[in-house]
Amino acid sequence: MIERKVDLSTKNTYQFGGDAEYYLDLNEHNEEILEKCGSLTSDIYILGNGSNIAFSDRGYPGLVIKSSKTGIRKLSDNTLEVFSGTPMPEISRFCLKNSFSGAEFMIGIPGTIGGGLAMNAGSYGYSIFESGIVNKIYSYNFKNNSNSIIRPDDLNFGYRLVEGLEGEFIYKVELMFALGELKEIKEKHKEYLRHRKDTQPSGVYNAGSVFKNPPGEYAGQLIENSGLKGYSVGTVSISSKHANFFVAEKNAKSIDLYNLVQHVKEVIKENYSISLQEEIRFVGDF
Ligand SMILES: Cc1cc2nc3c(=O)[nH]c(=O)nc-3n(C[C@H](O)[C@H](O)[C@H](O)COP(=O)(O)OP(=O)(O)OC[C@H]3O[C@@H](n4cnc5c(N)ncnc54)[C@H](O)[C@@H]3O)c2cc1C
Repeated sequence: MIERKVDLSTKNTYQFGGDAEYYLDLNEHNEEILEKCGSLTSDIYILGNGSNIAFSDRGYPGLVIKSSKTGIRKLSDNTLEVFSGTPMPEISRFCLKNSFSGAEFMIGIPGTIGGGLAMNAGSYGYSIFESGIVNKIYSYNFKNNSNSIIRPDDLNFGYRLVEGLEGEFIYKVELMFALGELKEIKEKHKEYLRHRKDTQPSGVYNAGSVFKNPPGEYAGQLIENSGLKGYSVGTVSISSKHANFFVAEKNAKSIDLYNLVQHVKEVIKENYSISLQEEIRFVGDF
């Protein structure tokens, strides 16, 4: 059921919001409902776990559709069908149980597989598309009201970049894995989780890395070397643990994050002649 005036602050890891003018929690693939959404408005935003976005304090003027259908099904010895709302760590743990290798890097990424595909999420040298685990993406396009099956070869992808999925609502994906050594997979899980715990702030509102790393550099290092660790604008600060994580207070304002991001970009441009690019996505009016 499409709801009106829904507070978005419970729907993203920064807890920013604003109301969505229209909001739909979609936990089934139903073309009739999707068609209705398309005829209600063309201003549609697809939401996963909200772990890479910052909604405007003014909310969202169109329809936010939360992709919340979860589930993993084994199609064959090495192929899984996964609904787009499934958390990536759940896929990683499912693979561990089945000794599938290739999903270890997802263990600490707190997003859905739909969001992971849209972002080409990755860590520790692996990413969703480059790792070769994606076989088919099942999506719905609101512009022409039709379903499509998209293969990685149809897309251009790179570091936190995917071209060819614009306007697509991913509802399901087929992933393929190689059989691996259970012990090695377990070790990787442990190592990745330990590294995150040691290097990233925990228990605070954030959306992971704010900027992409420029070629040959680490954004966090540039920010730290510019003396900005701990610097804040209003309710949002640069983490003292990891300078590419910007952490928010409870009930923080996304405009503070936006202004902090602009400030950091100016300083880094001035100091290093490098234009940092956001990895997080600002959604709505800023
Ligand atoms: C503590 C922390 C650590 C993180 N570590 C990492 C990391 O190591 N590596 C990394 O890459 N990211 C990391 N992130 C960022 C984030 O988890 C990833 O970008 C993740 O892929 C976002 O998934 P999501 O479901 O939260 O998507 P959202 O934030 O909800 O959306 C992100 C984008 O995906 C689109 N989208 C979401 N679902 C769908 C769908 N079903 N169909 C079409 N488009 C969709 C949205 O429209 C939006 O453009 C981290 C975040 C946090 C908070």
